[in-house]
Amino acid sequence: MPLVTTDALVLHAFDYRETSRIVRLVTRELGVVSVIARGARRPKNRFGAALDLFASGDVQLTTTPGRDLHALMSFEATRSRPELAESLDRFAGAAALAELLLRFAPEDADPGLLDTFSAALDELGHATPGSAGPVALGGAWRLVAHLGFAPTLDSCASCHAALAASVAVSFHHRAGGALCPACAGQARGARALPPEARDALRSWLGQLVTPALDGPSLRAHQRLLREFLEEHLTDGGRPLRAMVAWERHEMDA
Ligand SMILES: [Zn+2]
Repeated sequence: MPLVTTDALVLHAFDYRETSRIVRLVTRELGVVSVIARGARRPKNRFGAALDLFASGDVQLTTTPGRDLHALMSFEATRSRPELAESLDRFAGAAALAELLLRFAPEDADPGLLDTFSAALDELGHATPGSAGPVALGGAWRLVAHLGFAPTLDSCASCHAALAASVAVSFHHRAGGALCPACAGQARGARALPPEARDALRSWLGQLVTPALDGPSLRAHQRLLREFLEEHLTDGGRPLRAMVAWERHEMDA
């Protein structure tokens, strides 16, 4: 059983049997993995509070060839993120980002994914009450870009014709982005994307200034993101629960 040492971040954790926890981690060396933390529910255990949701740390785990569940040997927390739990806006956004990673991360290692995700959480942890939604959306679109399926915005996703910068375009989830009028006329299910919504997507994907959004615009962007993700899911179409909860929460807020 090879021992692997890597840095990692806790995406999800749940109790397993009487004394253990199963934890989903995004790691630098192995990508997204499931590990069992044996004894983690005992009062005195070697993990302590290190396995809190969204904590970063140095981990040691043993892998078994042919098995999807690895054994967590140690987790030395280097950064906990209590600030994400201080506001529901931040927490709901962070949970949606974690879900994105859990559902879309490739099986293989992708060293930069951990950094992209950590950066998104850190930015969200400092978000002011009014900006948590737009900041989380930015993190989500950058994760999408990192995973290699960013939507096209400045040329037609179908025929590659250039699109004028400041006009409304059609956006088609399956085609993978904006469409020119001719292609939009032939595509079913395209939706209108106003210029300011396209600008916001450009800002997020280009790591520019986070746009301010009013309530209806925020909800429209959350819906656009969720529908885009649903179109690209390849794991059987289970609902994106955290994404939906995040959308509902922002509606109540
Ligand atoms: Zn076209």
